[in-house]
Amino acid sequence: MASTAGRYWTGTTADPYTACDDASCSSPGRRIHTENRLQTIQHFIDGEYRASASGQSFEKRSPLDNRVIAQVAEGGRAEVDAAVAAARAALRGDWGRMALEKRCALLHAVADEITRRFDDFVAAEEADTGQPHHVIAHAFVPRGAANFKVFADVVKNVPTESFRMDTPDGRGALNYAIRKPKGVVGVISPWNAPFLLMTWKVGPALACGNAVVVKPSEETPMTAALLGEVMNAVGIPKGVYNVVHGFGPDAPGAFITQHEDVDAITFTGETRTGAAIMKAAADGIRDVSFELGGKNAGIVFADCDMDAALEGIFRSTFMNTGQVCLGTERLYVERPIFERFVAALKARCEAVSYGRPSAPGANYGPLISQEHRRKVLSYYDQALAEGATLVTGGGVPAMPGDLAEGAWVQPTIWTGLPETARVIQEEIFGPCCHIRPFDTEDEVLQLANANRYGLSTTIWTQDLARAHRMAEGVEVGITYINSWFLRDLRTPFGGSKQSGIGREGGVHSLEFYTELRNVCIKL
Ligand code: NAD
Repeated sequence: MASTAGRYWTGTTADPYTACDDASCSSPGRRIHTENRLQTIQHFIDGEYRASASGQSFEKRSPLDNRVIAQVAEGGRAEVDAAVAAARAALRGDWGRMALEKRCALLHAVADEITRRFDDFVAAEEADTGQPHHVIAHAFVPRGAANFKVFADVVKNVPTESFRMDTPDGRGALNYAIRKPKGVVGVISPWNAPFLLMTWKVGPALACGNAVVVKPSEETPMTAALLGEVMNAVGIPKGVYNVVHGFGPDAPGAFITQHEDVDAITFTGETRTGAAIMKAAADGIRDVSFELGGKNAGIVFADCDMDAALEGIFRSTFMNTGQVCLGTERLYVERPIFERFVAALKARCEAVSYGRPSAPGANYGPLISQEHRRKVLSYYDQALAEGATLVTGGGVPAMPGDLAEGAWVQPTIWTGLPETARVIQEEIFGPCCHIRPFDTEDEVLQLANANRYGLSTTIWTQDLARAHRMAEGVEVGITYINSWFLRDLRTPFGGSKQSGIGREGGVHSLEFYTELRNVCIKL
């Protein structure tokens, strides 16, 4: 594999870091745009950027207008083998021997360097996803940087247990636990908030002393690749952070899960992909941590703060064009406010402003790809076939110029379906929801729990006792009360039922990314 320069792309045209020259940009001269320039995105293995041994690559298209914006190196077994070998060598070398204090200081430096290169990360994420600037700049990239600091601080402050035991000779013995890194961790991540979700795994894995082989989604290769520059800039030893681009089945994703020298696999993505990974991991008895799909309920009681509930439900259903695992696709509204709530949510949907991330005022982006749009639109058809009343949306907005080729869909609301309808039972992962009225707490609890997924719920009420009762009753990993997408990174995160296995976050991440070993000393 030939190595290329110390940057994640090789440009065939201009440098993507040159200052913005888009006259319509909201902050010209400061913002950086990659979206118009063709790049070649490389693997990052053993501290250097490399093309594929096979010379193969695949196209990355912009969700905004379907133009090819990058050629991405397409990895195979050779790249996965090289990345795993580099990771193992790092564990046997400087990284494995590094003092905890120094390791944590380096991770703080990673976070600082991400912040220093904030505009580059925002530009790369905008190019990959097409999402509005404010979502990426205020939520996704800052959280990506925080993922390195928070977990560096956690590992420094978690004690392990010790027990003094009696022995027949009266001298006793001391047992104490030590935490060791799992080893080489495979990180397989999705496209919907690529930088945040990938670093949510890489941050704790490295803080615990592991080395990683990352397979970012084929839809969103850029920020994972760019992070390699940061690792090199701050002096993370080579081989600690590796990225292999490509696809899932019979490709780098699967090769990582099958690799005999990978010790654990952490995965975020669809539930059925999780099932395939679990089967592959079973052969090597590799540990898995899964954050999977959701079909989350929103529950709005008549005593809620109406403006706050509307704002929260609108965000939870339509932010990131509905491509959020925690998003609300089933909404239950107490009957006295049902009509008013539906009408107000409809009005908000019809006021969204479609546009490029850089367009002033744009607050609504496209879906990730044409393929995903076909899936979402098939559910839009399905809802009508099953007898839904269409409140708003249901199709594709008329977009001007090049944007007409992008993966745009309208925010969509339905009412009137039975709970057995596919659009109420299956995860769509698009900007849509079905709204149903309810009359009692018991009834809505039963409705909310009648689903195979159990990721999250958002509940809106001003009755504190009811909020606690509901939080105990809903079968999900995380309940938001009068809030949504708000969580301290030190708290446990994960799904119930088919929404996941395990919990990550704070000390809970240590359960997965380290192995506890016991030492027994005869005194
Ligand atoms: P996906 O399962 O299609 O792909 C995720 C990753 O897995 C990609 O990198 C893909 O290349 C890889 N992959 C696919 N098949 C594989 C295989 N057989 N072996 C190994 N790797 C394989 O998911 P997606 O479409 O990228 O993401 C959307 C899904 O992710 C939704 O279901 C969403 O709910 C879920 N998600 C869950 C959370 C959570 O925290 N629970 C967060 C974000 C997204």
